[in-house]
Amino acid sequence: MAQFRFKALEEVLNRQPLEVVREENLVSDYYGMMVFDQSKMKKYLSREAYKAVTDAIENGTTVDRKMADQVAQGMKAWAIENGATHYTHWFHPLTDGTAEKHDAFIVHGADGGVIESFSGNLLSQQEPDASSFPSGGIRQTFEARGYTAWDPTSPAFISETTLTIPTIFISYTGEALDYKTPLLRALQAVNKAATDVCQYFDKNVTSVQTNLGWEQEYFLIDEALVMARPDLVLTGRTLMGHSSSKDQQLADHYFSSIPTRANRFMQDVENEAYKLGIPVKTRHNEVAPNQFEFAPIYEEANLANDHNQLMMDIMQKIARKHKFRVLFHEKPFAGINGSGKHNNWSLSTNTGVNLYSPGKNPKMNLQFLTFVINTLQAVYDGQDLLRASILTASNAHRLGANEAPPSILSVFLGTEVSNMLDLMEEAVVDRKMTPDEKTALKLNIGRIPEIILDNTDRNRTSPFAFTGNRFEFRAIGSSANNASSLIVLNTLVANQLQKFKVAVDKLVEKGVKKDEAIFQVLKDLIISSKPIRFNGDGYSEEWVKEAKKRGLTNINNVPESLAAYLRPESLKLFKSNNVLNESEMKGRVEVEYEKFVMKIQIESRVLADIAINHIVPIAVEYQTILLENVKNQKEVFSPEEFEKLAGGRLELIREIGGHISAIKNLRKEMTDARARANKIENLVDRAKEYDKKVRPYLEQLREHIDKLELIVDNEKWPLPKYRELLFTR
Ligand code: ADP
Ligand code: MG
Repeated sequence: MAQFRFKALEEVLNRQPLEVVREENLVSDYYGMMVFDQSKMKKYLSREAYKAVTDAIENGTTVDRKMADQVAQGMKAWAIENGATHYTHWFHPLTDGTAEKHDAFIVHGADGGVIESFSGNLLSQQEPDASSFPSGGIRQTFEARGYTAWDPTSPAFISETTLTIPTIFISYTGEALDYKTPLLRALQAVNKAATDVCQYFDKNVTSVQTNLGWEQEYFLIDEALVMARPDLVLTGRTLMGHSSSKDQQLADHYFSSIPTRANRFMQDVENEAYKLGIPVKTRHNEVAPNQFEFAPIYEEANLANDHNQLMMDIMQKIARKHKFRVLFHEKPFAGINGSGKHNNWSLSTNTGVNLYSPGKNPKMNLQFLTFVINTLQAVYDGQDLLRASILTASNAHRLGANEAPPSILSVFLGTEVSNMLDLMEEAVVDRKMTPDEKTALKLNIGRIPEIILDNTDRNRTSPFAFTGNRFEFRAIGSSANNASSLIVLNTLVANQLQKFKVAVDKLVEKGVKKDEAIFQVLKDLIISSKPIRFNGDGYSEEWVKEAKKRGLTNINNVPESLAAYLRPESLKLFKSNNVLNESEMKGRVEVEYEKFVMKIQIESRVLADIAINHIVPIAVEYQTILLENVKNQKEVFSPEEFEKLAGGRLELIREIGGHISAIKNLRKEMTDARARANKIENLVDRAKEYDKKVRPYLEQLREHIDKLELIVDNEKWPLPKYRELLFTR
């Protein structure tokens, strides 16, 4: 086994960076070449069909069957010209990643042969055999079948030789079984609520879109080393491994020059991404060794999220070509930074205004403040839901550890905006303001400096930070589907904006002037949302104490966190905003509990196997060598000499023996704990039992293995060590 480890290391040292061939000289020449985008639609569709699709994209209208047939013909012609032989509906099930099932374009022709065919029916709707996708019992209760339906707002593309059509995935009775369906509904909820509020400021606003710019962190580890670690292969993280004497202490990896092989991998990924119209812009080294990041230019949120999922897929495929494996796990290595996915989030209007950008005049600035303050209140009210949307078995390892936000939600606003809110709080009075007071306030609002745009007082420790023209939600895990948190955030913001409008309208009805009513409601919100505002160090101990004093919740426990979704007020929130009805919500929460149990169960099994099959035999072997050595010395030396020369070795032998026994006992206890947990009928209780009674063994077992790693002869150790995984490239 140990030989296997050294063979893997040798393999890595002999690797040569792959040459990367670019399609054309300029990215702009081949950007989007594999996407059926508007320019291709113009070329391949009749004017009528083109209009039907653009209407669907811009105004949410449906494309009827006749038009869908025409679109299918155009799509097929374009796809076949570009080498496609198959088509697939592509969707985001509630598992990790995306799903696809490829069908060839062929149908029987008249002469006994086949012809290429594709119809509006096949484009619009399919019935994949969906029984193996998780639904949390929704399909058992209603209908076994599920179907996928074309999402025209995200363009079709060719992946290798397959025309890929983004779709939603729903049950036969219309319940969402995926991430995209509720995401589209939540985007629609914000669109409506935000447009209504914008009407106070600008009557030309008829729609508001959500923007998402994701930053994707990941580890890139050589394939030979990963394959020599069954824990990485099966669970995506190292379940054992003593920390390397040097890891990220010197911060010498962050932004340093990118290693050549990794760089070639990135170039290759970017080429593919550009062909698929993913605007990847940034690549750099992250803080931990062998950790990196990709970030594109932001896009409309639904499209951006499709692109993120696609990008993760491309990264995994290209990595194999370069003899790497990408780790998307939030915490693949204990003791060093984990990986997140920062979501840069904003709203913008059809008139081209970013609602989180300070405006050019007092009116636009008041609109800006309205959106910032309502977002604050939404995050404050929804802290538990936001946490539930991002806390998973894997992300729980990351939150609150090495340079990651804690499990407390707070919002960083920066000094400029914070000062502005303080000023408004003081200035606005509940009685009618004098004209002078109003002018003064407006003047101040008008002065919100443009420098906010390149504000320097950035805070990297905040889970939810205002960064000049957007919010950045940083607590999201690197392996997550962004939709999970976007669904919650958008629903919360939509709901808060509606409440705001109701409150303002009520005052106006009572005869308060519109801008004064807005001031007054905003003042109330500034006061009520105050506990969520925090500009200090989110990683510090003091913040944990302070947050507790403020009554903010701090939960780093998945089963407890998920429960927030099922509170009556949460079910009502998602239902009344037409995002998820009660059965849909219950179904998906069940899926989350199930995933949690499965992940811990798998980790526990894998660790037990490795401990018994890999670690214990090697420890016994080394212990036997020591015992032989001691016996021989006893024969050769006098008792006094023996005590002096070999006495310490006995201690070592005992130590090894102690660890071996502990591993065997803990493994047995862990297996028993699992058996007990598995017997618990109620899923939530089972998840709690796994969390409290099974999970702790993972840490305990690991401790003994990691100690053995330091004792046992390096030549014999079977698994690549942290220093090798992190520093061999
Ligand atoms: P950082 O400095 O935080 O590492 P960058 O400046 O590279 O990040 O930007 C991060 C992401 O934020 C990019 O995807 C960028 O396009 C996106 N972004 C910029 N402005 C907005 C906006 N108004 N709304 C949403 N995302 C935005
Ligand atoms: Mg950022």
